Amino acid sequence: MTLTVLPYVAAARWPQAGFYAAAVVLQRKGESVNEPHASSGGEFESLIAAAKSARENAHAAYSNFRVGAGLRATSGRIFGGCNVENATYGLTVCAERVAIFKAISEGERGFDAIAVVTDTDALTPPCGACRQLIWEFCGDVPVILANLKGKVEIIAMKDLFPKPFDASSL
Ligand SMILES: [Zn+2]
Repeated sequence: MTLTVLPYVAAARWPQAGFYAAAVVLQRKGESVNEPHASSGGEFESLIAAAKSARENAHAAYSNFRVGAGLRATSGRIFGGCNVENATYGLTVCAERVAIFKAISEGERGFDAIAVVTDTDALTPPCGACRQLIWEFCGDVPVILANLKGKVEIIAMKDLFPKPFDASSL
């Protein structure tokens, strides 16, 4: 089986703070449900729409990098989240975590998908901190990455976060 390594560098994400994120997505040629693959979004259309809508409310005064997230609870409710930046940079909260905290604060405990929308050609995966939180509250859910041009990729959480620290580690 041939492995293709796709470097995925989001160096421009928080330039003022000198932060950068880098992740490598391993894409195996051939079909498998657990690997990143392009998609039309299909069943996740409403989730992507919620993420786009939340993105409009992003408070991205420093990076100007607007992110929207859509989190679907097993109850069927969808929670949007946007990045909320702060002059300290370090107190910034990502869109994914805002969506999770909103849902948890309203009593939701089970989730089955999360979408992340940015206006970039290369789709933006959740940062490391968000991966930890998504794993804690959502487990191995599909993570739908999308941009404003209709590009969509779906990655299983266990592939984004293959060796997690969680309650089973304690
Ligand atoms: Zn994040």
